[in-house]
Amino acid sequence: MDIAGKIWRVSGPVVIAEDMRGSQVYEVVDVGDDRLTGEIIGLEGDKAVIQVYEDTVGLRVGEPVVGTGEILMVELGPGIVGNIYDGVQRSLITMMEDIGDFLIRGTRTAALDREKKWHFTPTVKSGDTIQEGDIIGSVPETGLIDHKIMVPIGIQGTIREISEGDFTVEETIAIVEHDGENKELTLMQRWPARKPRIYKKRFNPENLLVTGTRIMDYLFPLALGGKAAIPGGFGTGKTVNLQQMARWSQTQLNIYVGCGERGNEMADVLYSFKKLRDPATDRLLQEKEIFIANTSNMPVVAREISIYTGITMAEYFRDMGYDVLLVADSTSRWAEAMREIGARLEETPGEEGFPTYLGSRLATFYERSGRVECIGRPSRMGSATVIGSVSPPGADFSEPVTQATLRIVDALYSLDVTLANKRHFPTINWLQSYSLYADAVDKWWSKVSADYTTVRNRTLIILQNEADLEEIVRLVGPEALPEDDKLLLLVARMIREDFLMQSAYHPVDTYSPPERSHLMLSTVIKFYDLAKEMAEAGTLVSDIASSKLIPRISRMKDIPHEEIADYVKNLWSDMEKGMIAQEGGI
Ligand code: ADP
Ligand code: MG
Repeated sequence: MDIAGKIWRVSGPVVIAEDMRGSQVYEVVDVGDDRLTGEIIGLEGDKAVIQVYEDTVGLRVGEPVVGTGEILMVELGPGIVGNIYDGVQRSLITMMEDIGDFLIRGTRTAALDREKKWHFTPTVKSGDTIQEGDIIGSVPETGLIDHKIMVPIGIQGTIREISEGDFTVEETIAIVEHDGENKELTLMQRWPARKPRIYKKRFNPENLLVTGTRIMDYLFPLALGGKAAIPGGFGTGKTVNLQQMARWSQTQLNIYVGCGERGNEMADVLYSFKKLRDPATDRLLQEKEIFIANTSNMPVVAREISIYTGITMAEYFRDMGYDVLLVADSTSRWAEAMREIGARLEETPGEEGFPTYLGSRLATFYERSGRVECIGRPSRMGSATVIGSVSPPGADFSEPVTQATLRIVDALYSLDVTLANKRHFPTINWLQSYSLYADAVDKWWSKVSADYTTVRNRTLIILQNEADLEEIVRLVGPEALPEDDKLLLLVARMIREDFLMQSAYHPVDTYSPPERSHLMLSTVIKFYDLAKEMAEAGTLVSDIASSKLIPRISRMKDIPHEEIADYVKNLWSDMEKGMIAQEGGI
């Protein structure tokens, strides 16, 4: 029997119900006459503390609270890709179609379409024995995702029936016999959102997550299966950066979690995905994207669960053997939701009112990233990469959410207000950002170019030297510097403007494949080497600075991908012919 109690007190998004003895923590309950979805987060005597995922305005003491006997599950199966969900996995697309508006309270919509038929092709046959995690067939879900159907955890045995055909997510696709008992398999399975999915073994990341953002891919590479954060003050480009990653990353599936940010930004993302095409396959990007939207106008508590809903989906596709990326914008809004719930529960607060478990909650999210050997056959590797934005109030990185996040992640993209003011985008500060994956992806990069490590290290040193020289320049002016330092400043500026700056709105430059990034940066370094020889032989840096090759180098950004290799080849050959000086009007 499901437990049925009644509302005893309402405090914002938190409801306390009485007569709830026998309930479980994390059990899902229907709250009030409107049957709002809630989750029990604490039990005391016969009282249950419930966080409600919908607007609680109008709930009254005495209204019924009914247990469902279930914990909060994520539905996993065909129909998930391209969908837009709220935090508790209600499909906003279905709600739009059925109800004509978002956010009708108490609306139950299935996460996966119950009517739609999917074509299932088995890869195992009657008589085969199967175990947990085995792939038994697949559904071509979109043009970009072949949805592998896996044996759910807890099921094993001998296939008694399986056939190719068109099925809804609830129809039986196979019958499995174990110890004389038959179990029916469907295209859909369910998994508790808060619980990490099972894998066989963890491996260190070793492949680059190709984002198409040069400064990330080249200087501070994120690896497939890695975890990273983007902290930055208001307007520094957190959202644009994460959108860029969700668009262009060369992963097989991307998940965009909009958590507590503005609704119009979410609308922008959704709209752009309807038009943009994947550079590798030329198919619509939404064929490899899942959206989870919990914008600032939606109930605060649903933010708390949206992160888990997203990461569960990421793990599920990882388990198929795919590389998945999850971006979350913003984890600060997530933490604020925890703070609000904590305050309602009258918990003893930690720093700045955040719950004392803030750090461990953040860790449970980021730690679900990873590169793993999946369970089941055929043997396969998959990865889930996680990157979250952090929005410290007043861009003060010493605040608790930023600090707790820094202790967890292995790559950091530190966004800089000063750069934003100078319109240098992306505003990733090259002196404060880091990646612990640089060594791991060295081998990956060496396939693109044997020079990668040298070029990267030299670039970082040039940028560091520039920063060191800035102090002197401020004191004595650039003219007082020796010629080699002047050249260094010139080259550092070229690195910043011609390589690091990359507009998300440029038709070509918005996505820079690794080969292109390498060509661009090594051209600037090549220029440096040749110019250095000339400076040592007596050419003035002021003359080198007026070389017509410099604007040609700047123009690399505008050159289409298919022409860049030839363009750079010409540049190099002209540089080697000594044209740095000739065209400089010496
Ligand atoms: P945040 O989310 O940190 O508040 P946004 O991502 O909304 O900031 O960025 C603010 C503005 O900065 C954008 O509207 C855009 O004009 C500019 N911007 C940010 N990143 C880029 C980029 N990579 N290229 C060009 N413009 C950018
Ligand atoms: Mg933003």
